[in-house]
Amino acid sequence: MVKPFVPQLVYVEPNAMEYPLAQKLVTKFKNMNIEVRETTSHNQIRNLPGENHFQKYRIAKSTLVIGIRKTLKFDTSKPSAEYAIPLATGCMGHCHYCYLQTTMGSKPYIRTYVNVDEIFEAAIDYMEERAPETTRFEASCTSDIVGVDHLTHNLKRAIEFFGKSEHGKLRFVTKFAHVDHLLDADHQGKTRFRFSINDEYIIKYFEPGTSRLHERIEAAVKVAEADYPLGFIVAPIYLHDGWKEGYREMFEKLDASLPAHTRKDLTFEMIQHRFTKPAKRVIQENYPMTKLELDESKRKTKWGRYGIWKYVYQDDEQEEIKDTLGSYVHKYFPEAKIEYFT
Ligand code: SF4
Repeated sequence: MVKPFVPQLVYVEPNAMEYPLAQKLVTKFKNMNIEVRETTSHNQIRNLPGENHFQKYRIAKSTLVIGIRKTLKFDTSKPSAEYAIPLATGCMGHCHYCYLQTTMGSKPYIRTYVNVDEIFEAAIDYMEERAPETTRFEASCTSDIVGVDHLTHNLKRAIEFFGKSEHGKLRFVTKFAHVDHLLDADHQGKTRFRFSINDEYIIKYFEPGTSRLHERIEAAVKVAEADYPLGFIVAPIYLHDGWKEGYREMFEKLDASLPAHTRKDLTFEMIQHRFTKPAKRVIQENYPMTKLELDESKRKTKWGRYGIWKYVYQDDEQEEIKDTLGSYVHKYFPEAKIEYFT
């Protein structure tokens, strides 16, 4: 079982200390005998311990930076929300195919922002701009926010903030099961709590450092019992020997666990595995022993939004994935909605 994240090393930006959350975190980590260093800015962090890239990368992934979010302009987050709300960046997990490896580049450490009230004020402006339309905010575009939230409770505050809002909704996704502190949040049904799930083989070989399938399902049951709208992202859907059986077992386990009342308003999002040439390079650098299949010649190319070719499955494979996983959803969760397959 993956324990809740505790950083090995902490950096704090001096002006962050004006915020009570930073003071609380620094005191807590010092009491735990964790080294706390000052840094003028996270961009100045250059001397992380470790003798080579492999070691430095791993230490960075267990380093927490306590800082201030300066840019209060939110990125867009289509198709699942209008905006990405920035509460943290980075993740302690070690999923071989994690998109953060390319988007965070040389800064894989985890940053948490302490000026949450200012972030919420920016969210109010975005909501007012679109009112009376609902504005959806995605909290997990740049991190697995649940994985770090037991330390900061920023996400919990965001859940309650959107619970009180008239036109706002929140959503996020996680591969972590450390949800207990979120169960009593006053969400008012305005937060969709999603879990990223996959079959046992894929979680075992490609998602080290994250909660196992049965732990994520147990957490999803707690979340359902706390009356949150619930969803699952099956991602990345990855073809391996026995994948049909693996995914069938995954749906069977979900079916055996989820309470009845949650099934009417259940969503599934399906994302097939894809990679780009730069992503392949960083994956092979960060996880040199990976068994992940990254052979361009077996894939079909698709022109990506960011001006780069993506390698996705061949058309017939995509059809097979859609048919197979679609039939499982219809069989086990006939009332659920498949939001998209991509
Ligand atoms: Fe990346 Fe999500 Fe895995 Fe964290 S849990 S390493 S964000 S894929």
